[in-house]
Parts: sequence; structure tokens; C-alpha cells
Amino acid sequence: MAFTLSGDDVCQITHPSPIPNPYWVAFSPAAAKLIGLEFGSNGFPSNSSWLELLAGNSLSADPHHFPNPISTAYSGHQFGVWAGQLGDGRAILLGEINGQELQLKGAGKTMYSRMGDGRAVLRSSIREFLCSEAMHALGIPTTRALSVVGSELSVRRETLETAAVCARLAPSFLRIGHFEHFASSNNIVRLKEIADLLIHDHYPECKSTSEPYLELFRQICHRNAKLVAQWQAVGFCHGVLNSDNISALGLTMDYGPFGFLDQFEIDHICNHSDQGGRYAYHRQPQIMHWNMACLASGFLPILELNHTDEESQSLLRSALEEFPTVYANTWQSLFRQKLGLNSSQDGDTGLIERLLQAMHDSKVDFTSFFRQLSQIKLTQPIETIILRDQFIDREAIDRWFADYLLRLQSEVSKDADRKQSMNLVNPKYILRNHMAQVAIDKAQQHDFSEVTTLLKLLSNPYDEQPEYEAYSAPPPADLEKVEVSCSS
Ligand code: AMP
Ligand code: MG
Repeated sequence: MAFTLSGDDVCQITHPSPIPNPYWVAFSPAAAKLIGLEFGSNGFPSNSSWLELLAGNSLSADPHHFPNPISTAYSGHQFGVWAGQLGDGRAILLGEINGQELQLKGAGKTMYSRMGDGRAVLRSSIREFLCSEAMHALGIPTTRALSVVGSELSVRRETLETAAVCARLAPSFLRIGHFEHFASSNNIVRLKEIADLLIHDHYPECKSTSEPYLELFRQICHRNAKLVAQWQAVGFCHGVLNSDNISALGLTMDYGPFGFLDQFEIDHICNHSDQGGRYAYHRQPQIMHWNMACLASGFLPILELNHTDEESQSLLRSALEEFPTVYANTWQSLFRQKLGLNSSQDGDTGLIERLLQAMHDSKVDFTSFFRQLSQIKLTQPIETIILRDQFIDREAIDRWFADYLLRLQSEVSKDADRKQSMNLVNPKYILRNHMAQVAIDKAQQHDFSEVTTLLKLLSNPYDEQPEYEAYSAPPPADLEKVEVSCSS
């Protein structure tokens, strides 16, 4: 259900600010199905009222009408430092359709815009659109993107750019920051309301437990632990894991300077503003755990209604301590699947870690390596494994391949079956930065064909798509380090 809390301290009625001459940039047929929205053979809704609605220029498109658009208050920690009140500075929640909240990002100033203009640029809107839909197709929980609408309206970032509005869908856009907001003022009534709303709408299984609020906390932690393990398994770096960008439903949300790993570098930093590497690839699990500790601050006053201060802290601490185990179990299971292992054996984690270290040392392309690994035959002589050529230390990688083949032989493993199951978990196509950049460059010239192509391609990331074979390749050397601006 759309944000049902009301009151000036929680949300503000906020009308989108219109944009001049809106036009379609991108539209996701798959996301449209979630809300039963029909579209024509050109891939866009035939009813022009939807263009006006998703531009933020009108609040109705048959049969939907959204009389009470809102922006919500939240707070959070940015780069580990308490930032106080933030809130939806450029996102406006229109309402709900079919259990999906419909939110416009970049639809103009809100009560929470602070110094910002409430807008989003075309560049970042296309990146959010493509990555949301790509993540969903990878099987990773995420907010969805319905559309991007462009306009000639200019916005100033490092240079003058044009504005766009991205329409997002999610069962709820509640964040850890919503809890932190009311924890910071010790507003127990509001904290309970948010927790009750989550239990009622999204975590009903908590209701029947003896400690529903504690159970809710545990479940949110578990979902986010599993989420970050899924990110690691596809080489996704979020880039800005501030607590206000972390979903209470365990969804990937607020796509900014994200990046998928090309060459595997364990300490890869995708956000150019992140000089200390707080949000580097290998730190994501630990940072997500840290964010769950921020969430605990919102549950403490609720638990204290029925427990002593000490008991409440101890209950939350124990629940928080489950995070590393849930994360590690999910990570191990996902990487076993990536290697095509059917069973769990002692030494598997060591085998995976040795491989990742070797990939890091030789900067091997993460996605294409795992995809090609499925082609290895059980009885293949090591010197004929083409993948070994990607490693500098041949002796070390040959030892690894020998151990890997022995490990495969220790269980029932048929080449054809293993290839099939590995290809279901090792994507062939991911949204590499240089690919997104080509689509953006064209879109800035009013050619949206590449956005449409990437959406189609990334909607089936595990399938062979011979017509798009070139998109599976690592970036050419001159495009390896496409600079992604963090301003959006
Ligand atoms: P982000 O790092 O994009 O998650 O943004 C952090 C905070 O700044 C959030 O509260 C955003 O809503 C807000 N914000 C980001 N960009 C803008 C903008 N152009 N105008 C207003 N608020 C913004
Ligand atoms: Mg954000």
C-alpha cells in the first residue's frame, strides 16, 4: 500500500513541476505489465495522457488519478557521518497501482530539496532506468523503472545538460533512513507506525511470532545480507551505500555512480567522490552490515516498550550478529553455483577465494570469465583450457584448474548439464559502463535506439543472443575506464 502515514513530520503534499515539451526516451514493457499499463507496437503507451503523467505535467492518465502526490522525510548517514534530515529531494510519490508505488524522480523541487533543483539529468536517468531493469532480469531484488521522459529543460551540473524524469515502481520506497529520521527524535509513535506498516504489507510472517518487531528487524537484515551477496556474485558496485539509499524491503535502490566490474579488482571503487574507498566492491558486505546497525537504532525504542534497555540492546545485537552468517552462506552458495558445483564440501570457500585472488592479480574480466568457465570439460587437459591465457601466473592458475577439475570429478557432474546450470547463473550480458555511455551519447542527440537495444538485450542476460554477441565482450582498451560523473 502506498505510504499511508500522514502528518507534516512524515510527508508533504508535493505537486510535480511541469517540464516543457516532454518526449519518450525509454519505456519498460515488463515494468508496465506490473501495473497493467498497455502499450502500442512502438513500445510506448498509445494514450498520450501517460506521457503527461510520467513527465509530471498532469496527475491523471486514464483510469488513474493521483490527487495527493507526496514527498517523504527521511534522514541518514552519508559516508559514515550523520547527515541529519535529507528526504525526497527530487522524488515524488504519486500513489499506488496494483500494489506498486509509482514515484517520479526528477519531477522538481520538494520541501526536502535543500540546495538542489529537484531535477535529474537525462544521463543519470537512463543509467537508472537500464540498470533497474537489468538487475531485475538478473534475478536481483530492485526497484523497477517504468520510463524515462526527456525535455529541453536545461539543468546545470558540471556543464549544462537537459532534464529527464524517471518513473520508478516498488512495493514500497521505505528506507533505513525513514527509521533513522524518527529514531533521531525518539519518536516512538512514528517508528511503530512504520514498523507496523512494513509488517502488515510486506513482512506478514512476522505477525505470528512472539516478537514481531524483533523479527521484522531480523528479516530486513537477512534480506539485505542476501542482496549484497547477490551483488558480489554479479560484480555489482552500488557506489553510494549511505543509509538513506538502503531499502527496508531489501531492494537495490537509488542508482547513482554504480558500476559492474569489468576487470576483477577486489577493491574497485566506482564512485569518483569516494576517495577513501568506503564503498569499494570488497567493502559492500561490511558496509551493509553497518547500515543494519543504523537500522537497529530505529528498533531500539520500539523494543524498549516491552523490555529493559539492556534486554533490547542484547536482542538487537544478537539479530545483527546473524548478518555475517546469512551473507556468507548466500555468497558461498552463489559462488558454488557459479563454479557449477552441486554439493557443498570443505575447501570450497578456499577454492573460490584462490580463484578470485588470481583473477584480481591478473585483472581478468569478471563476467566473461565465469561465462566461459562453463565450457570446460571434466577430463580436459589443463594446457588446452583457453581461459588460462588470461592469467599472468600460469603455474598458479594451472594448479587452480587442476584442483577445480578434481573437485568437479568428486561429485556427479556431467559436462552438458553443468554448462546449462552455470549459464543460468553466470550472465553473458551486463550493463557495462561503456555500453551505457554509448546509449547516453546517442540519446543526447535524440536517438533513443541504443537505449531500446540495451533494454532488450539486458532483459535476457543469461541467454545466448547471437545478434548481440559483441555486447558480451569486455570494453576495448581505450574505453576501460569510462569516467562516470557522480553528479546526477
Ligand atoms: P543521493 O546521493 O542521490 O541519494 O541524494 C542524497 C540526497 O540529496 C537525497 O535526499 C536526495 O533526494 C537529494 N538530492 C539529490 N539530488 C538532488 C537534486 N538535484 N535536487 C534536490 N535534492 C537532491
Ligand atoms: Mg538517495
